[in-house]
Amino acid sequence: MIHPTAEVSPEARIGRGTRIWHEAQVREGAVVGADCNIGKGVYIGPGVVVGERVKIQNRASLYPGLTVEDGVFIGPHVVFTNDRYPRSIAPEGRLLTDADWEPGVTLVRHGASIGAGAVIICGLTIGRWALVGAGALVTHDVPDHGLVMGAPARLVGYVCDCARKLEPGKGRAHWHCPACGRSFELAPLPGGVRRRRARRTARGA
Ligand SMILES: [Zn+2]
Repeated sequence: MIHPTAEVSPEARIGRGTRIWHEAQVREGAVVGADCNIGKGVYIGPGVVVGERVKIQNRASLYPGLTVEDGVFIGPHVVFTNDRYPRSIAPEGRLLTDADWEPGVTLVRHGASIGAGAVIICGLTIGRWALVGAGALVTHDVPDHGLVMGAPARLVGYVCDCARKLEPGKGRAHWHCPACGRSFELAPLPGGVRRRRARRTARGA
């Protein structure tokens, strides 16, 4: 289903069962997999690749250089930037064109979710089943299952495939989900490492 007010390039590929709502734009060379839901006013730039069963909420902007794997959720008004060195003009004043520009390559991995209004700087990878909090400004890679929040975004925990927050288990790298019982081997949080080091330093002094 493509709403009559959506603008889908004849050079874009759209999978079976995908719905594209009011005023969305899908540019030439973009590939959108099967059974996706593309909300009102979404922009999918030239060459952007979107997997299957992806939900993209209203007004999200997906600029060139972006690949989104299967099962990803992208909240309303999320922006994926794609210029590491944004300038309208060169130092001598000449207008920069597409030929001057190298798009940043960004990857959102299987099952990840991006909260409303988040901004993702280009050149990053958002890991499998990661969760980016609403309004976050993501400036570093996010590990698999990572929960990041804030501006700039910090890793504050881990989430399960079911999106509930994981709790530390008995082993140092063991995490489990109180909601569904899944368990995972994941690196200790950076903050936890710092706290342990600080305690050791205090004891040594
Ligand atoms: Zn769970």
